[in-house]
Amino acid sequence: MVRDGEASTPMVAQWRRLKEAHPEALLFFRMGDFYELFFADAVAAAPALEVALTRRGKDRGEEVPMCGVPVHAVETYLHRAIRKGFKVAVCEQIEDPAEARKRGGKALVERDVIRLVTPGTLTEDALLDPLQHNWLAAVAIERDRAAIARVDLSTGRFETEALAKDMLAAALARLAPAELLAPTERLQEALFARQLREVTDRVTPIAQVRFDPAVGRRILTSRFGVADLAPFGDFERAEIGAAGALVDYLELTQKSGSFHLAEPVRIDDSTLLQIDPATRRSLELLRGPDGARSGSLLGAVDRTTSAIGARLLARWIAEPAASLEVIRPRTDKVAALVEDDRLRAELRAILAGMPDPERPLARLAAMRGGPRDLLALGDAAERAGRAAIRLQDAPECFAALRKDLAGLEPFARRLLDTLNEPAPSRVDDGGLLRPGVDAEYDRLVSMRDAGRAHLDSFERRLKEETGIGNLKVRHNNMLGWYVEVAAAQEGRVPASFVRRQGLAGAVRFTTPELQALERALGEAAEGAHARERTIYAELCGMALAEAGRLRLAASALAELDVTAGLAQLARDGGWVRPDLVEEPVFAIRGGRHPVVEAALAATGEAFVANDCDLAPDQRLWLLTGPNMAGKSTFLRQNALIVVLAQAGSFVPAEEARIGIVDRLFSRVGAADDLARGRSTFMVEMLETSTILARATERSLVVLDEIGRGTSTWDGLSIAWAVVEHLHDKVRCRGLFATHYHELTHLGASLPRLSLHRVKVKEWQGSIVFLHEIASGVAESSYGIHVAALAGLPKPVLKRARDVLARLERNEARGTAARLADDLPLLALLQEPPDEREEAGPAPDPVRDLLDGVDPDTLAPKAALELIYRLKEAAGSC
Ligand code: ATP
Repeated sequence: MVRDGEASTPMVAQWRRLKEAHPEALLFFRMGDFYELFFADAVAAAPALEVALTRRGKDRGEEVPMCGVPVHAVETYLHRAIRKGFKVAVCEQIEDPAEARKRGGKALVERDVIRLVTPGTLTEDALLDPLQHNWLAAVAIERDRAAIARVDLSTGRFETEALAKDMLAAALARLAPAELLAPTERLQEALFARQLREVTDRVTPIAQVRFDPAVGRRILTSRFGVADLAPFGDFERAEIGAAGALVDYLELTQKSGSFHLAEPVRIDDSTLLQIDPATRRSLELLRGPDGARSGSLLGAVDRTTSAIGARLLARWIAEPAASLEVIRPRTDKVAALVEDDRLRAELRAILAGMPDPERPLARLAAMRGGPRDLLALGDAAERAGRAAIRLQDAPECFAALRKDLAGLEPFARRLLDTLNEPAPSRVDDGGLLRPGVDAEYDRLVSMRDAGRAHLDSFERRLKEETGIGNLKVRHNNMLGWYVEVAAAQEGRVPASFVRRQGLAGAVRFTTPELQALERALGEAAEGAHARERTIYAELCGMALAEAGRLRLAASALAELDVTAGLAQLARDGGWVRPDLVEEPVFAIRGGRHPVVEAALAATGEAFVANDCDLAPDQRLWLLTGPNMAGKSTFLRQNALIVVLAQAGSFVPAEEARIGIVDRLFSRVGAADDLARGRSTFMVEMLETSTILARATERSLVVLDEIGRGTSTWDGLSIAWAVVEHLHDKVRCRGLFATHYHELTHLGASLPRLSLHRVKVKEWQGSIVFLHEIASGVAESSYGIHVAALAGLPKPVLKRARDVLARLERNEARGTAARLADDLPLLALLQEPPDEREEAGPAPDPVRDLLDGVDPDTLAPKAALELIYRLKEAAGSC
């Protein structure tokens, strides 16, 4: 590729030209059976791709770093590159090298970048998580409105959503895009940057002009071949700007322009349950505490049997609805399948192990598909037909699904009867068609096979005729078929043999008969291939013609899988259908935490069910209880019950009546955000302020331990004010857990505040956690008991008990309220260690003097005298 000397070779010049057009990406430069990377690309990529960095030749006097990956394994390397944060420009030879040779021996093969691979534009199964959507999103701002447009290129799903500017962070957390296009200029603005904080590592900056709504409108109308966008919906300006930038980016990265994009669907976020990023994290909806799917709500409730089902369930859990019209039809179907064990079992059997039809269809539309994609479509279409038949006598709520599933039987039959199973991964690998499908193909294949058999007998005959025992008839790409004998035997071959090649120990020949055989064989094989290609193209055409119906069937199959899975879950776990209503009620009897219950079940322990009733006259619960008693679990379980109910699922309870929740807030457990320079307390206050600003009367707010992490009195005061604000101003339903027992005094002044506690039992000097919620106030936090359970050293525990006893005595004497300024108390706590063991209540002459004084009756002279005596006493203590 390179030569020593001053000037670059034509190939280096070609490389540089292509690299300049894609400076942000690694250039995978196709050379024969490899993609090669050069210069800085090679140095950066070699460790990430785990390939050797070599040097080859010189360019302008400098050695050229290089590394390469084989074409047949390119997906593995693309995967590594994308995971490590690179983008890749795939550069192919866009003409046959033979054509280039015709222009002269040294003519350069033409190359061009045919695709830019970025995290948001993946379509290959090997690069995608089958259980997750892979969203490429774009965000635009127009005055006080924002919009997110997004596409999952692996399925072609295309959506837009308009929203208030300050709701961007929540919407992005719900979406979790793999890549986000954002206007470069805006990224400098603090407010905008803050909304994007959770996804900064996935942002691709794009010039602001590309988000221009006027340009966007042109791009979209031309893409969809329409004069106006009105038939798709009443888009806001920001939505058109975002959608335009998105399609523009796709056209840029996909080069060929042949990617599948469904018509845009507007998502109305007012029909969704709003969940902000902190709540999403706190509730561990899709990811558990360690970032894995297991341990999350999704992990605990997923009983789907297909990838499309799993993706749809993830979506329902990530964005539950806030409208009865959306939720009821979903739950009706789940209920029908809970009732009918047989129907559920049969549907689940039909769906089990179903391949994903959505991604193969998108690949075929983008001309990146293969025979296996066709087979997957045939398989899914066949199952759709069976499911439609099975749903014939199912309840009315399945009518729409049944309609979407039916009608693909002839398509399925054609594919399944035509394609061999397993199908080859590429058409050129051969073996696409079943025998009996195409008479011409069968004839050519039998000719080809007869030709091969003929070659075997030809070899046997030659051995006999020449008497050369180790004579072989073989094939390679360069020579085609040849006869090979050991060099020492060369003198024994007949004169009719034509010498083609001499090797160290062997000589290769051809013969007129071999050439004739080879020609016949080649013609038959090529003819068979051509037939395969023709039929493959026909099948692809047929699949694309059916694409609309296939997509409907795929969505119906996904919904059926989710529904049957949720029904199975409800049946196995004894869950109930929630009664969803418009009034602001929340009455759960025997509620359980789905994830904790499953975790306990694995160890054979039982979960203790609890009731929760946030009726309008007691809509705010103040929960006290010892550490480890189960407060957080109770708080979270009620929030999760809302998520499940509004996703369309049954819920883990004996009975549930829930007034639709518009916004759900949960602040349970503190987490440092040191990476972003915010302390635990700061994070807590930011999250609390979001809640107080956003919660409405229809919201559910779940707060745990507000006001920890600062001084006791600051914390207590903040918690106090927050409870009052939620009660008086926000008037939402809420659960508030605290260790500040002082807050329970609020029960007297706030009529709709209801006091509850988690019960524990003291037994033989230790405590037993009952995990039962009851009305009233907890007696103690039992923090030292829990510290003992955690194994704190005995002397530390003993000292802690001692200090606690003194503090409690002081509190009883009414002095705790001056804790911070209480000099004698501090003195008590600072006694030398050897005196601590026996120390009784600390002598306090100052206090003794003061106790005997009534300031209202003190004469000036007596007051002066008191000051002298106090000074004296203070000196003595
Ligand atoms: P802290 O105040 O220290 O944060 P907590 O009161 O919030 O504690 P949780 O974290 O909710 O306590 O619960 C502690 C453990 O108790 C859980 O991990 C779980 O194993 C168990 N637990 C909680 N609730 C129940 C329940 N209802 N039934 C059975 N076990 C439970």
